[in-house]
Amino acid sequence: MRPFVYERAADAAGALEMHQDGALYLGGGTNLVDLMRLGVEEPTRLVDVSRLPFGEIEVLGDGTLVIGAAVSNSDLAADRTVRETHPLLAQAILTGASGQIRNRATVGGNLLQRTRCSYFQDTSKPCNKRDPGTGCPAREGEHHNLAILGHSPACVATHPSDMAVALAALDASVRVQGREGERTVPFEEFHRLPGNEPERDSNLRDGDLVTAVEVPPLPMPSRYRKVRERASFAFALVSVAAAIRTVGATVPDGEGGVVRDVRLALGGVAHKPWRCRRAEDVLRGAPATEETFMRAAEAELEAAAPLRDNGYKVPLARNLIVRTLMELREVAS
Ligand SMILES: Cc1cc2nc3c(=O)[nH]c(=O)nc-3n(C[C@H](O)[C@H](O)[C@H](O)COP(=O)(O)OP(=O)(O)OC[C@H]3O[C@@H](n4cnc5c(N)ncnc54)[C@H](O)[C@@H]3O)c2cc1C
Ligand code: SF4
Repeated sequence: MRPFVYERAADAAGALEMHQDGALYLGGGTNLVDLMRLGVEEPTRLVDVSRLPFGEIEVLGDGTLVIGAAVSNSDLAADRTVRETHPLLAQAILTGASGQIRNRATVGGNLLQRTRCSYFQDTSKPCNKRDPGTGCPAREGEHHNLAILGHSPACVATHPSDMAVALAALDASVRVQGREGERTVPFEEFHRLPGNEPERDSNLRDGDLVTAVEVPPLPMPSRYRKVRERASFAFALVSVAAAIRTVGATVPDGEGGVVRDVRLALGGVAHKPWRCRRAEDVLRGAPATEETFMRAAEAELEAAAPLRDNGYKVPLARNLIVRTLMELREVAS
């Protein structure tokens, strides 16, 4: 590991000042330190932001949650209000990593954790994300767990976070402290698709510090479901974050009602959490039936461009959307 300077910031302004050329912020270190050991990240300086005064979860008068960037994943998932008002967020976090890792991992670090593409983590291999211009061996190589939507010739990586998929469905926004002041970034604009610059995972600027995530109230039942290769300690092959509200009677066979409101996002399918706007458009105002759910999922996945070995993700995502909406429908009216 290359030698580096370690500093701990007392406040956001101090953190920004310490963030000089070649520096990286340090949250819980559960991703960054691993990547430093592998030689993938080589910061000259680590600015520890895990003890900044962003360790609280605040509930505003209208029910909006303001979650500090230094809140641990465990504390967020265990928070009684979060579990009651935004259950899919707690569920998503609890499907990720392990208890020990969630105890260390922070909200800011979880959002900005890097892809698990095996070539990215292997410095003996080329990789456009790690070393721009060297190529993307995953495209013709090992890609069974990589993207089916929104990828580019330069990169087919997926974003690994479960929490971020829930936040995408929840219409969250991210508070950022930058050199030009504070701003709030809508969640859909926070992460990015790879395009020609796969080295950039997010739209953050150099030195930008994530200070909090805002999550508006969610007046409907919600659920997070994740399909993975083993029952724990594994990243999503495909996951779905869903919330739905229906109106009208539900007849005994379970059919009936009309979709009044819906939120849908997929994980494990793209370089960023994938908000399913096309599916939502099909669903809003339509009968809450299995046929509608299927049509919505297919509308979303029409844009899928699977690679040689990950075509299985298309029916997997479709079925996961349909099953999850069917389950939610039972409690959604
Ligand atoms: C074995 C294992 C299994 C895992 N399984 C899963 C899983 O199934 N699902 C899942 O979602 N995750 C999983 N994870 C990943 C884990 O959730 C992340 O490692 C963790 O959330 C990262 O948080 P951290 O605070 O430790 O970030 P760090 O490692 O400290 O930082 C990660 C990145 O964020 C940047 N950063 C940190 N804080 C800020 C800030 N406030 N502002 C700006 N930049 C910041 C850092 O510079 C770095 O680039 C797994 C990890 C391991 C090791
Ligand atoms: S998919 Fe992206 S991260 Fe993986 S090898 Fe290609 S460029 Fe690198």
